[in-house]
Amino acid sequence: MKTFKKNDFVEVYIEDMSDSGEGIGHADGMTFFVKNAVIGDTVEAGVTKVKKNYCYARTNKLIKESEFRKKPICGISSPCGGCQIQQLSYEKQLEFKRKKVADCFRRIGGFSVDCQNGDGLFINPVIGMENPVNYRNKAQFPFGKGKNGKPVVGFYAGRTHSVIPTEYCSIEFPGHEEILRGIMEYVSAVGESVYDEESGKGTLRHVLMRKGFVTGEIMVVMVINADGLCDEKLFTEILKKIPGMTSIQVSINKENTNVILGNKCRTLYGRDYIVDKIGDVSFRISALSFYQVNPVQTLKLYRTAAEFAGLTGKETVWDLYCGIGTISLFLAEKAKKVYGVEIVPQAIEDAKKNSALNGIENAEFFTGAAEDVYNEKKFPADVVVVDPPRKGIDESLVKGIALMQPEKIVYVSCDPATLARDCKKFDEVGYKVQKVQPVDMFPETVHVESVCLLTQNLA
Ligand code: SAH
Repeated sequence: MKTFKKNDFVEVYIEDMSDSGEGIGHADGMTFFVKNAVIGDTVEAGVTKVKKNYCYARTNKLIKESEFRKKPICGISSPCGGCQIQQLSYEKQLEFKRKKVADCFRRIGGFSVDCQNGDGLFINPVIGMENPVNYRNKAQFPFGKGKNGKPVVGFYAGRTHSVIPTEYCSIEFPGHEEILRGIMEYVSAVGESVYDEESGKGTLRHVLMRKGFVTGEIMVVMVINADGLCDEKLFTEILKKIPGMTSIQVSINKENTNVILGNKCRTLYGRDYIVDKIGDVSFRISALSFYQVNPVQTLKLYRTAAEFAGLTGKETVWDLYCGIGTISLFLAEKAKKVYGVEIVPQAIEDAKKNSALNGIENAEFFTGAAEDVYNEKKFPADVVVVDPPRKGIDESLVKGIALMQPEKIVYVSCDPATLARDCKKFDEVGYKVQKVQPVDMFPETVHVESVCLLTQNLA
């Protein structure tokens, strides 16, 4: 095997892609993980880091373009790094995600997986989008200082906290650029300062915005390292002219932390929430509450979860990690009773108001950690839905669920690695994975959502 060093160049054919979206190829007995290369490319790779058995590299020159390559959707794809696989055709992106889920079930879960419909666990083809652009309903932009020291807004350059100024992002909802322009107009008019992580001084940290795709309602939250903006009246004047503006807030965050929002928000204009609809159900969404970011795909995701739950009207359902009660209320119509559990108190407030908003009377919500509330209440259920954050579910919850023996578990997951790990644990306590349906909630990125049905293994 040849030895390589940083800045060496090598010709590599890209045979595969890693979970994080780098092209994988081999040359001279060495494995290369190459940035900005897609499966089928032949590239001249420039080595950026040498490890014992592999090297990191970036694409220096495209020698032969892959048939699966497409034009990136955005001009700052390389420094931003948010849309890791935007050079891959959409069809191939869906294949990549299906393989990623399959690999997790095989490697981490220890399942025998067969995507050809053979003997093993079958991973369904990924449900994609018809038009995978401008799909996000929520955007978060950091403020920073430009070359001349003036405030800018944009994106962090991959893995750093230096801000690349930008007004437009192809995956964000149409109209976010108008909001950013309004904000920067205000910032330069009053000379608002930018927060500096080193010194802890300066005001502007982030702006968070959300838009209800069905209702058109918009929320803007300025995250600041101060008790208020210099001229909140002017700020409101400028932003409220934007059609759909429903809620303008400031969130006070004086901590030296990577957490974006502070715990307290103050409303400058309108309501402290927006309303949106998924299917026939309306939801109020507060600044601190979780709400799925891709509304078009959310409907497909929840329909899949509902289909897997297979409710007839007689069932008692637990919806653990329920957020603002989206899945709970989506299922309530077809169930006898739904219990929701969520750790963020504001989200539970929203969930309760959402039941009332939709005239739903058979849903009840509890604030707390899923593993604590469920294991303490011990109300028996026919179906348990879990939709945890990336880290997956606590071992004590797997045991707690097994103890209560629901007929079905519907696991909604945004990380196939922890999904596979938890499915293995469920398998050990008598639940069998029946179906796995990935849904593409995040086109152009390496992320994939999945819905999984587990049933009691009565054999
Ligand atoms: N099912 C909802 C929310 C899913 S996101 C939806 O589809 O909209 C995951 C949620 O789990 C978040 O709202 C987060 O606040 C919550 N959460 C995180 N850890 C938790 C825990 N230990 N117990 C309960 N909820 C938790």
